[in-house]
Amino acid sequence: RELTDLNALTNEYLQLSYHGLRTKNKSFSVTIQTNYDTTLEKVAVIPQELGRVLLNLFSNAFYAVQQKQKLMGAGYEPKVEVSTCRRDEFVEIVVRDNGIGMPDKVKNKIFQPFFTTKPTGSGTGLGLSLSYDIIAKGHGGDLRVETAEGEYTAFIIQLPVTVNSS
Ligand code: ADP
Ligand code: MG
Repeated sequence: RELTDLNALTNEYLQLSYHGLRTKNKSFSVTIQTNYDTTLEKVAVIPQELGRVLLNLFSNAFYAVQQKQKLMGAGYEPKVEVSTCRRDEFVEIVVRDNGIGMPDKVKNKIFQPFFTTKPTGSGTGLGLSLSYDIIAKGHGGDLRVETAEGEYTAFIIQLPVTVNSS
């Protein structure tokens, strides 16, 4: 693990992911709002692993707002909000979108390997199960979801702030 500035890491992967979206879908516009806690201390993480988690959360969020755009057409304003904050002994990274959201029957299965609602070829269904393992097993943290069908989805990454004496 490396002591990492999570604001910088998060923003780096957000840019990467946004660039990927723009390359694939040039006409799509989405408001990205960031709210980074600049007082956040560095946290010991495996940066590449956390990066994979972030990439998947961002690509899922961009997918969800594009799906909603298809349903709603003009008048809908796609938005993805990314924030960091300190909460008790955890640092939180929150990725929230105002996309299609999830019904309970989807929400209950998203952390299972190979579960996907995307058409064959566009999703492996491995992103969130892998992400959960990276956060829980790899970092002693937690990955949770809050969602309302048709409204929004928020993923909350919690990483313990460990005082490292070694
Ligand atoms: P994949 O992206 O390959 O489908 P994931 O494990 O990343 O696999 O996600 C599993 C499923 O969880 C998705 O197919 C989708 O149904 C649901 N999901 C994940 N993120 C979101 C989101 N931001 N909004 C709505 N549904 C989501
Ligand atoms: Mg995914």
